[in-house]
Amino acid sequence: MVGTVWPPPKVSKRADRARLTRVAPATVAYRCPTGAVGQRPALALPVPRGGPPARPRPLGAPLDGIAPKVTANYSESVSASVTARAPGKVNIQLSVGAVRDDGFHPLASVFHAVAMHEEVTVAAGPAGSGIVIDGVSGLQADEVPRDSGNLVWRAAERLAAELDRPAPDVRVSIAKGVPVAGGMAGGSADCAAALVALNDLWGASLDRDDLARVALDLGSDVPFSLLGGTALGLGRGELLSPLMVRGSFHWVFATATRGLSTPAVYGTFDRLVEGRIVPEPQPDEAVIAALIAGDPRALGHALHNDLQEPALTLRPTLRDVLEAGLAAGALGAIVSGSGPTVAFLVADPPGAARVHSAAAGLEQVRAVFSTTGAAPGARVVGRTA
Ligand code: ATP
Repeated sequence: MVGTVWPPPKVSKRADRARLTRVAPATVAYRCPTGAVGQRPALALPVPRGGPPARPRPLGAPLDGIAPKVTANYSESVSASVTARAPGKVNIQLSVGAVRDDGFHPLASVFHAVAMHEEVTVAAGPAGSGIVIDGVSGLQADEVPRDSGNLVWRAAERLAAELDRPAPDVRVSIAKGVPVAGGMAGGSADCAAALVALNDLWGASLDRDDLARVALDLGSDVPFSLLGGTALGLGRGELLSPLMVRGSFHWVFATATRGLSTPAVYGTFDRLVEGRIVPEPQPDEAVIAALIAGDPRALGHALHNDLQEPALTLRPTLRDVLEAGLAAGALGAIVSGSGPTVAFLVADPPGAARVHSAAAGLEQVRAVFSTTGAAPGARVVGRTA
């Protein structure tokens, strides 16, 4: 269960902003036996009652029964390659306000990371080689740019600039498990995974807050891809507050044969609300209560996405996908983010199987995935020496 404060305590705007931008769970620094500095979640240690004081624990030694978890914050690196994994997401709530002067829309979004992952592997390239994306595999790999148009390329350049490093020489490969242009933030997940992997490969010392700041320059969804779990996102979606969730939820995702452009969906939203008063987006208490209770039925009723109507305007055939899943017993159905992937919340694995086969039979559906949420955020999953 991930803890949070809800409703948020009344604090000044500045303090509130500072609180919401803290995207990492409380962590404490420790030093590995190798001398590498890492972080692990802060743990409440039992205080012995009346007994002898606890023997001092060598820095970095495992707590009783708990292996310390390093979250990519090494002071030195000996890895030839590093692989990081980051999850795709669905917006359980996506409330959108009127476009701001800076072109962004204010959001109240409940992000939920799901166990469909992107994996990014980085390795040092020969001097002067620059960034080389030498392998993209998995879901819709042929639709992913291999040049500077790839979001991972920008992530590598932006992180190198942040660290005052020269233009990076790095080889990157990407294994895709999140649909491309599917409204599930696959590119953002690649960015987040690349930041975490390069931070580790380069022996950099950026902590999660630093990485989240860099991430925001790369896209509004990237800070959440770093954080994972379930979180309320305000502002552009980047002012993140982890939410309390009981248990896990079962999801079925039906991806579409063709993607939808996120800017086109927001443009259609702007046209549809023209001349109307658009309320300032607010967190939905029904969504948050259903998450706290771990109640999939209540959550199914509460699912809400202001981008669904624009996505259906651009792709009317998605209506049949939503209806087919509901007819097969889904507790709720929603277009994921800017679409065109459709997300179905189901009660359990048998419910998932029924919705899965109903959606798989539709010609506008490319592939169907049954999975669960919430999933953890971007993290290192492998190193080669
Ligand atoms: P979001 O949900 O954040 O709006 P999305 O999931 O709908 O995003 P992405 O898969 O992130 O969309 O990709 C959007 C576009 O970005 C694609 O059409 C693709 O051309 C381009 N792109 C650049 N880099 C990547 C990448 N690493 N993976 C996927 N697409 C990428």
